[in-house]
Amino acid sequence: MSVITTSGQIKKEKLGVVLPHEHLFDDISFTYKMPRNREEKKYVTEKISLKNLHLLKSNPGFIRDNLYLNDANMAGEELLQFKLAGGSTIVEQSTIGVGRNVKAIHDIAKKLGINIIVSTGYYISGSLPAEIVNLSQKDLTSNMIKEVRDGIENTGIKPGVIGELGVGPKIQSWENKLLAAAAAVQKETGLAIFVHIQAVPVIPGFCGELNGLEALNILGKQGADLEKVVICHTDAKINLKYIKKIIENGAYAEFDHIGKEFYYLETDFLMDRDIDRVTMLKELIDEGCKKNILISQDVCLKTDLISYGGTGYAHILKDIIPIMLRKGVSQQDINNIIIDNPAELLDVDNKYF
Ligand SMILES: [Zn+2]
Repeated sequence: MSVITTSGQIKKEKLGVVLPHEHLFDDISFTYKMPRNREEKKYVTEKISLKNLHLLKSNPGFIRDNLYLNDANMAGEELLQFKLAGGSTIVEQSTIGVGRNVKAIHDIAKKLGINIIVSTGYYISGSLPAEIVNLSQKDLTSNMIKEVRDGIENTGIKPGVIGELGVGPKIQSWENKLLAAAAAVQKETGLAIFVHIQAVPVIPGFCGELNGLEALNILGKQGADLEKVVICHTDAKINLKYIKKIIENGAYAEFDHIGKEFYYLETDFLMDRDIDRVTMLKELIDEGCKKNILISQDVCLKTDLISYGGTGYAHILKDIIPIMLRKGVSQQDINNIIIDNPAELLDVDNKYF
């Protein structure tokens, strides 16, 4: 058994503190809505600055520049903060459709001496060209298995997880195909599956309904091991009943929006705040659910970075854990969540390695 990082396999005991859901490079510009009036047209090309930063508080996608992470030097500097705060491993969740860049990730991992796990898989249908969306379930399966076996895009770098897999606001043919393919890849490779559930209103058709339980149902029927499945984005707006059902199914509920406290003005969508997240985490821990909880920050926008006024990759270690401790969560419980749970999840018996 071992964990597959960009630099090879390592023992799970060596992972240390893990952020299971982050991005160093991505491109989510497919969610960009072209402005309707002429004055706003400049935001298609304008760079983020202190002069326009306020516009992103009520719509993080208002300036297109915010939808790309594409600066290797900045990514390295920002991730270094996580290492300096005591962190040592991240899972980089960018899949096909959102600008996956494993070569650049590998270089950062080497330079910083951090373990990085990359992923195989596909994001939501709206992020992908028709020739990919129209692939058969069989082709999706064999493409992912090929990456596990031979490495990603001729780099020789192998994925250590499946995901984040893009499930849109409604389960349609793409979602059915993709989840069935992922279950098949998991049966063959043992890799953990991370499922993106649309939890913020940036995709057409978003209605606020979270379909993680439907996704689990499909995965279960296809023979996936639900104890190696993570339902992502359960803390944009927290629904404890939904989270408990995910956990009852044996899967992980991932609080991965820590640090994100956005307001989407157009749809009056106000995200929960970090303090709400800590309160809910404490409640789940008190109810004995800690084995099925993961926490991360899903850094994916420029404004999630410290360089652009965000909370960065070290936010959980620097700011959130002290709050958890003050609220009465024990250090032991915190260690279970940030060290032991991800170690268990990422550890695989992979015959392709
Ligand atoms: Zn993500």
